[in-house]
Amino acid sequence: MAYWRDSKIKDVIQKILIYIFFFTGIPYFRFLSLRKKGPVVRTLVMHDVTNKDKFVSFFDFLQCYFNVLSVGDFEHKRFDDKKINILLSFDDGFESWETVVVPELERRKISAYFFVSSGFLDMCGDKEKETQFCRKNLLISHRKPLSWEGLKRLSANNAFVVGGHTVTHPNLLKISMEQQQTEIVENKKRLEEFLGTEVEVFAYPFGMPGMHADKRLCEVVQKAGFKKAFTTEINFTNMAKDQFSLARVCTEYKESPFFLYVWIMGGYDNIKKLMLGFRISGVL
Ligand SMILES: [Zn+2]
Repeated sequence: MAYWRDSKIKDVIQKILIYIFFFTGIPYFRFLSLRKKGPVVRTLVMHDVTNKDKFVSFFDFLQCYFNVLSVGDFEHKRFDDKKINILLSFDDGFESWETVVVPELERRKISAYFFVSSGFLDMCGDKEKETQFCRKNLLISHRKPLSWEGLKRLSANNAFVVGGHTVTHPNLLKISMEQQQTEIVENKKRLEEFLGTEVEVFAYPFGMPGMHADKRLCEVVQKAGFKKAFTTEINFTNMAKDQFSLARVCTEYKESPFFLYVWIMGGYDNIKKLMLGFRISGVL
């Protein structure tokens, strides 16, 4: 109960700081300055999407204020020079991808990256194992994984791109180099054999640079045969940067449209770093 109250307090403090920072105008001027250098891209990460109505409203909002990219647009650098370009990605492998995400994306003719943890799909159908995987590996309460057949149906749409996300979703910096290779290579092989296509993109589990990914790990991913990899660095996606540390921001689609606007414009970027700094120093 105390933990619940503390985490609620932290959320409220974080939101207040995000709004204050946004209203200083700094995020907007930063966006203008980035725009002078080239197209501005924001990659969003989502996970399990259970509320269809809120997901639909989220898309209405995205398409109203931003330029939502397909994966093809992103890979061939077809950007809007004026608006923020939004690229979508989904991590881990949830049943809701098939029931909620894919129908909505197809209806709007939008595509996305889907990063799959193959060990999670293996648990599909065994409630106890699903729960264990969610708790121990994804650090969440029980959610239903996508089935392998569901993944095949998803990938039948060529616009959707399936990427690697390891076998068991570990913090790759906490395991040996040999284990890292097994997690990365076995996941890639399994997906490629099942789907019959090459898997060329990767997302680091958890993904925060310095905590879950580093320069040496980027090399391991590159050597495994991937062409690019995404972190969860809280930033715009810098296309000119190292292709193995592309930034993405975790996004909660159920938030209010105004908060999401503030979030995507950059109200969150610096505040999150500040909150992490406070947490490390023990203030929060
Ligand atoms: Zn993940």
